[in-house]
Amino acid sequence: MRTNEEMNNRFIAYRSYSLNNFACIPQINALTAEQQFDIKVIGTVFPFKVNNYVVNELINWGNVPDDPIFRLTFPQKGMLAEQDYAEIAGALNRNASKEEIKEIANRIRLRLNPHPAGQMELNVPEVNGVRLRGIQHKYPQTVLFFPGQGQTCHAYCTFCFRWPQFVGMDDMKFATRDVEMLTNYIQNNKEVTDVLFTGGDPLIMSTANLHAYMDHLLLTKPENLQTIRLGTKALGYWPYRFILDKDADDLLRLFERIVKSGINLSIMAHFTHPAELETRAVKEAISRVRNTGTQIRTQSPVLRNINDDPGVWADMWRKQVNLNCIPYYMFIPRDTGAQGYFAVPLVQAWNIFRKAYRQVSGICRTVRGPSMSCTWGKIQLLGVSEIPMGTFTKKVMTLRFLQARNPDWVARPFFAEYDEKAIWIDDLRPAFTDEGFFFEETKAKLSFENQLRK
Ligand SMILES: *Cc1c(COP(=O)(O)O)cnc(C)c1O
Ligand code: SF4
Repeated sequence: MRTNEEMNNRFIAYRSYSLNNFACIPQINALTAEQQFDIKVIGTVFPFKVNNYVVNELINWGNVPDDPIFRLTFPQKGMLAEQDYAEIAGALNRNASKEEIKEIANRIRLRLNPHPAGQMELNVPEVNGVRLRGIQHKYPQTVLFFPGQGQTCHAYCTFCFRWPQFVGMDDMKFATRDVEMLTNYIQNNKEVTDVLFTGGDPLIMSTANLHAYMDHLLLTKPENLQTIRLGTKALGYWPYRFILDKDADDLLRLFERIVKSGINLSIMAHFTHPAELETRAVKEAISRVRNTGTQIRTQSPVLRNINDDPGVWADMWRKQVNLNCIPYYMFIPRDTGAQGYFAVPLVQAWNIFRKAYRQVSGICRTVRGPSMSCTWGKIQLLGVSEIPMGTFTKKVMTLRFLQARNPDWVARPFFAEYDEKAIWIDDLRPAFTDEGFFFEETKAKLSFENQLRK
């Protein structure tokens, strides 16, 4: 914990660590030489970045390598398949050239489904034949905006589905600085009520840069715009963004201005573990944000060896509510990168959800999940049902869309064959029919549209 004295200094410098300098982390000797080598190997393929707040205040170094925040931020050996691990380790051990190592790493990365859910092909809108880079529009009400200066994070999550952009694979193809394009797009698409700033982490950018975007939105103020959302993990990874950073007070004043203008401002906060809600800094940060009239909603995937325990989720939701945050989503980790390492089977994820859900008061039950963000939409596993079939009962998985590419699909329960091992929608088969899921008829159509675009 920070001492009061340090907090009263009113400034704590952000210090980040990556593959090049993690040996300088004061607590690193809690790891064996072998464990440090594992970090080098895995960090050669996946992005790695951590900072002094995470290292000093969140990770319990007496508990590494099992500590959940350590697992959340430091590359883990199991994230790579054995032969891939061996190939990188071999190259590092024989001091292979940088180029060769990069070539091996890229080859491995390409096999890890770097662009899941058709994000690049399907969600980027086109106006007059021009693709609007930096915008994604999948669900009618909500437009995603990727500001150019917000495409990194205060630390990287080991499970992150945006990992390819942090290793320079897709050259941040999403990002834009063009806020005029955004306001035009909102004005021309009247069904849009929400714009969600995302990244990376938009709160990595300075308040001055954020101001530029927000000023334009507030000045133009498309009449259909009701909510501005900021998707961020700054509360979890760098709460000083709202307390001690030089432009922290300006940031809060900007939040106040947005709220006073009549727009609902919502922080979509990523919290993965209750440990992130326990420091003095995060409590103060949440309180300051809430005092501006900004709402905070919370979300996280359910991750093996990090938070795959109903007690952890119940504790997390209660702590969030006590701090005035609204539990929002429990996700299933996406089908990319080290999915195999972090994935919890769907049935198990549902059991974690319901065992946590039944322990908490209705105030916490605003949360929905477990939910998969896939090509077709956000699919929730409602649960396992037992259907009487005359002489026997049939076990099925009951699912529904919370969000869908086609709004008509939303909130209609549908059934899949019971499969204890399935970790993603692609592993499931529909129950009671030999044909595909009702939404899959569009699969061929989507791929046809893609071909046309190419
Ligand atoms: C999750 C998501 C949203 C937001 O969905 P809500 O249910 O409104 O929070 C918007 N666009 C995309 C592409 C998403 O994945
Ligand atoms: S903060 Fe969000 S975008 Fe950044 S690494 Fe974590 S999950 Fe990915």
